[in-house]
Amino acid sequence: MSMSEALTKALPLLAALESRGFEAVFVGGCVRDTLLGRPLKDVDIATSASPEDVIAAFPHTIPTGLQHGTVTVVHDGDTYEITTFRTESAYEGFRRPSEVRFVTELKEDLLRRDFTINAMAMRSDGTMVDPFGGRRDLGRGILRCVGDADARLQEDALRIVRAVRFAAAYDLRIAPGTWRAIRRHRALLAHIAMERIGLEFDKMIGGRHPERAGALLASSGLLAHTKELLPEAISSAAAAYAALNAGRSSEAGEPLARGIRGLAGLADAEDRWAALCALLGLGADEAAKLFGTLRYATARGERLSVVLGVHGAMAEQAGRDLTALADQPVAAENAALAARLREDTRRSWILAALRHGQTAALAWAGIVGRVPDLIAADIHAAERQHAVLGPYLQALEAAVRGMPAGAVRDLAVKGKELLALADRPSGPWLGRLLHSLLEAAALGAVPNEKAALLAEAAARLAQEDRPHETRGDHS
Ligand code: ATP
Ligand code: MG
Repeated sequence: MSMSEALTKALPLLAALESRGFEAVFVGGCVRDTLLGRPLKDVDIATSASPEDVIAAFPHTIPTGLQHGTVTVVHDGDTYEITTFRTESAYEGFRRPSEVRFVTELKEDLLRRDFTINAMAMRSDGTMVDPFGGRRDLGRGILRCVGDADARLQEDALRIVRAVRFAAAYDLRIAPGTWRAIRRHRALLAHIAMERIGLEFDKMIGGRHPERAGALLASSGLLAHTKELLPEAISSAAAAYAALNAGRSSEAGEPLARGIRGLAGLADAEDRWAALCALLGLGADEAAKLFGTLRYATARGERLSVVLGVHGAMAEQAGRDLTALADQPVAAENAALAARLREDTRRSWILAALRHGQTAALAWAGIVGRVPDLIAADIHAAERQHAVLGPYLQALEAAVRGMPAGAVRDLAVKGKELLALADRPSGPWLGRLLHSLLEAAALGAVPNEKAALLAEAAARLAQEDRPHETRGDHS
């Protein structure tokens, strides 16, 4: 097997251990990805040397996980994990054991690994060590547990989710015995920390085939067995999706399936999550809660909420607009019509951008461009909707980019100046006034110029001072 640059660069590490009389091989993901010609994420090494011997063999090491036999070696600006051959026994609570036993045989080390495609090693001369037929499985597109699937998934229930993740990322079919074991032992997922589940989901959504991950998660029934409950919308979507995949027609499943197929068209994983949550019908709060359950960073949940906030504000209106546009008889005119936003659409759009932020608004428009099923109201008009979708979204984007003011700080008038104008003590009224001026400026109702804004402010203050009069639209 020929070696990629990344493996070649790591060869001196194998040589250093071999020259001291130890066995040392590339192992796991880097071997699998080399066989597939995919770029390597990291290069892991397994060796018969003890962690102490590894530390002695290299000038720059970090004792990352000594109790598990792992030493990190820094070599030529890159880090490598070198792990002593080991077996795992005495699994407790359906999780990987905290104690391991070091062994001298490579094959014993490969035996502890989860799937045949992950249980291959490569020697420094390029020869493969593949006792479980990983290469054959990879060639045939099959994901299979090493040895007895029931035993392997019961030892460590995380492997149940890893199976789905690898099957999705590498577009593999799951071997029948492994699939049966996944379904049989899925309730063991309740023993796995949500953080681990969250990491796996993230890799599935961000990976090559999120649609395949979705299909497998739905048909395996895994989603109902996590330690902490996922939102109800997820289980009902999974049921609809599974029905569809099983060949039954499902009204709810079809747009969902089309939408999920569209996810891969989004480059950014955060955008994929936003699209997925919108497809599942999760509101901003529910989605943020889901992110909390999956232990994602707060900032990610916040970003998700604002994009879903824009979706909540705009999806129906955009669906109506596009359906109406697609119904126009002359296709050539549709694009021109689409580019001219309705006044009420423009207003809701600008207000949504003020409320949730221009970045979130632009992100939403970008997502909808890739996953039109997020808003498409009328399936039969889908093709014609597509012809108008581009110009419509461009018009929305232009409207947001062209907003004269996006935040109070962009206003040509400052709070201090309004205080002087009003000649009254500061209070909540000031923030309200600034915000209403911001809306007026953003909508283009008042130019974002000091004199115009001060005049508008004076008019509004005067109106407030006459409480017996009915208030105008602006208050
Ligand atoms: P990637 O880095 O792309 O996720 P990988 O195969 O490198 O893929 P890791 O999670 O980094 O996956 O694990 C490295 C190797 O360790 C795997 O290839 C597999 O051999 C083994 N391994 C990891 N987790 C488990 C587990 N839960 N049970 C058994 N073996 C595992
Ligand atoms: Mg890895």
